[in-house]
Amino acid sequence: MKAIQVHKFGGSEVMKLENISELVPGKNQIKIEVKAIGVNPVDTYIRAGIYPIKPDLPYSPGKDASGIITEIGSEVKLKKIGDRVYTCGCISGSYAEELICDENQAFILPENCSFSTGAALGVPYSTAFIALNIRAQAAAGETVLIHGASGAVGLAAIQIAKSHGLRVIGTAGTEQGLKLLWDQGVIAALNHNQDNYLNSINDLTAGAGVDVVLEMLANVNLDNDLKLLAANGRVVIIGSRGTIEIDPRDTMGKNASILGMSLFNTQAEQLQQIHATIKTGLINGRYRPVINSELPLADAPKAHDLVMQNGVNGKIILIP
Ligand code: NAP
Repeated sequence: MKAIQVHKFGGSEVMKLENISELVPGKNQIKIEVKAIGVNPVDTYIRAGIYPIKPDLPYSPGKDASGIITEIGSEVKLKKIGDRVYTCGCISGSYAEELICDENQAFILPENCSFSTGAALGVPYSTAFIALNIRAQAAAGETVLIHGASGAVGLAAIQIAKSHGLRVIGTAGTEQGLKLLWDQGVIAALNHNQDNYLNSINDLTAGAGVDVVLEMLANVNLDNDLKLLAANGRVVIIGSRGTIEIDPRDTMGKNASILGMSLFNTQAEQLQQIHATIKTGLINGRYRPVINSELPLADAPKAHDLVMQNGVNGKIILIP
């Protein structure tokens, strides 16, 4: 079967489509015929060798995919051959025609969801759910600023926040991105590439500030985020690509909290609970991933270059 292989860490060109030997699932594992693959920024950090966790070489990249179960291990209990599933994490790498994952890394894909939709769920929806509901403990009626709302995690966060009764302010860096945010039902869409774009937050919150910030680029925005918070406000750091200076005093008078998060800290059982809740949103149509483009698996290098660009607005999917 064909899979993208990485033999050395480096630029996107180190990914090659190659023939590799057939995969055999272990006793708690399932084998999936992959129909669609979700490309995430973390896949590029790992490929470049700049992520703290480095796989042994050679490896196949990718955590998110969707497809049909073709084989199950002897101790698999809740999944069967023929099930349509999507993954959040996998053992063999998702950039392939087939993958192996633990049974509890796969979730049933509702009938009303396409395989591309399934491939867009794992990392983005898990991350948005954990940031909003578990780390920030956001409550209905609160106001959330999604700083970087036009990307895969940000769009998932808008949909989850709205379905929980939050008021959502989002930022994007292009006119198309801003339109997308309005279409998703935010109360305000602000352009993070314009000067003074945060000035209207005061009016939008009647002077109180925002209760929660979900931050996709903390190394640029954290200092400003702290100044925008309401009393007892929380900033959840989802993405950061460098360092920043802040004034710790900005947290003191407001009892503010800065909360880090990594999806990879989530236990398998908790991930199952999270996706049981996400399933409801998929079935009732409130959660609908925005797909930017679908590319053939051989174009994985192009997909990695694209996912690191600004103005992409939604998810990049690879099709094997
Ligand atoms: P993505 O689809 O590439 O989206 C990136 C987002 O960042 C876009 O909305 C982009 O907006 C926005 N952005 C660009 N410049 C910005 C600025 N100055 N201020 C605020 N936002 C800005 O990536 P993603 O999949 O949504 O992931 C977002 C970040 O979270 C990435 O850094 C990723 O590595 C990280 N992440 C972390 C976890 C975790 O467990 N902590 C999990 C998943 C993802 P425009 O393109 O419109 O400018």
